[in-house]
Amino acid sequence: MPGIGIGIGIGFGSAGRWTRYWSSRLKSKLNNYWNLNEISGNAIDSWGDKNGTVYNVTQGSPGKIDKSYQFVADGVKRYVSCGAIVSNSYSISLWAKKTIGAINACLIGTGGTYGGLFLNGNLFKVNRKDGTLLCDWAADSWALDDGEFHHIVLTINSVGANSIIDLYYDGLKLIPKIVTAEALERIVIGNIYGNGSYSTTFTFGGNICDVALFDVLDNNEIAALYNYQKGNRVPFLSYSNSSSKKSGYAIFTFDDGLESVYTKIYNEFKVRNQKATFFLRTNAIGTAGYLSWLQANEINSHGFELGSHGQTHTQWETLTEAQLRAELDAVDLAFISNGLATPETAAYPYSNDQVWVELIAAEYYKLVRGTNASPELLPYQKPTNNKFDITQGHLANAAFDDTNVFKRIIDGLYARNSIKVFMLHNIVEANPIEGYERTVAYLTELLDYCNTAKVNVINFKDLYSLMG
Ligand SMILES: [Zn+2]
Repeated sequence: MPGIGIGIGIGFGSAGRWTRYWSSRLKSKLNNYWNLNEISGNAIDSWGDKNGTVYNVTQGSPGKIDKSYQFVADGVKRYVSCGAIVSNSYSISLWAKKTIGAINACLIGTGGTYGGLFLNGNLFKVNRKDGTLLCDWAADSWALDDGEFHHIVLTINSVGANSIIDLYYDGLKLIPKIVTAEALERIVIGNIYGNGSYSTTFTFGGNICDVALFDVLDNNEIAALYNYQKGNRVPFLSYSNSSSKKSGYAIFTFDDGLESVYTKIYNEFKVRNQKATFFLRTNAIGTAGYLSWLQANEINSHGFELGSHGQTHTQWETLTEAQLRAELDAVDLAFISNGLATPETAAYPYSNDQVWVELIAAEYYKLVRGTNASPELLPYQKPTNNKFDITQGHLANAAFDDTNVFKRIIDGLYARNSIKVFMLHNIVEANPIEGYERTVAYLTELLDYCNTAKVNVINFKDLYSLMG
């Protein structure tokens, strides 16, 4: 067997960032990682993008590795809902400390109304989505109420008849079960999904931390993961300042072509050797509150990207096909007649849900940015074609009020060498309007963090060459 080769000796630092010091074999199998170290707010998925909603759970308790979430089986609805995650084969790993006498305590809800991994007294069991028993393991799987955290991994190797389910307790494999297994549908930490209402009676009693969803791990990988986390008390993603190499890509886009692009925004990128993309509403350029064409040319000359946001800012799906083509032709003409090359990328005014609009836009542009959280990038907007796992965040939304949310995403971009597109509109000195504006101080904190974290800040159109 090849060695696992997990590295050691990584220090913690407040100015650090996520790094990849652990086995590339394990890393390649990791899909989501909730370390549950937060003391408030969402349960951040620092590897994927499935942040969990936390409900009636005490955060910031001591954990096996840093902190944990504490659940109480007291008839109150408590859970961490991480949303829909579909998989036919996976390993889910966690550390848990049980409360004495825990009955029907759900460690991880996996879908349906009642599906999940439970602890029933000392017995591990897996329930089907309808609540019937799929399999359980011999009594005394977890006999010792020792007040300690234990490492638990559930592996579903396949779905359908004659599938093998494995359970590992502190690195050791219990007797495999041959069952008719069901696909993973969602992840709920510490409770079942309960048909959307969650449950008052299946909440786990005790503490849970470091929940990770992998593709199927083999015996050696699980033993190594257990021994490493046990021995070093550090997660498998840690902080380091050691590397100087950049990794990952953040793409900042600003809609509408506002005057602040020239007066407050582009220079902040320029002085940090970063790039940005500005989508112009061409018939507003040169009017009060917007860029002038002279300013647009100056910004363009410094290597920033100017894209299309339509001529009139009319939502494209409300136009006829002929009107949309006229709108996009007018944008091209405005760019050309003001000394600029025609735009390679665009952002939909408002939003777009129409395939016919995408198809016409694809005739004009390499990439079009949407406004939903899911990417709507042409020609790569389809998830199956989304090899860089592009997602998008609207930075002026309340979800990003806390800059730590952004920073965790940037750490994840570095660790995964992945891409995220961010949307903004206006930047002001003070008193920003929620949903539309952020302050200069907010923007510069984000840009500084990108450089600290060694994440590339690039133009939107550069995606095209990155994706090949
Ligand atoms: Zn707009």
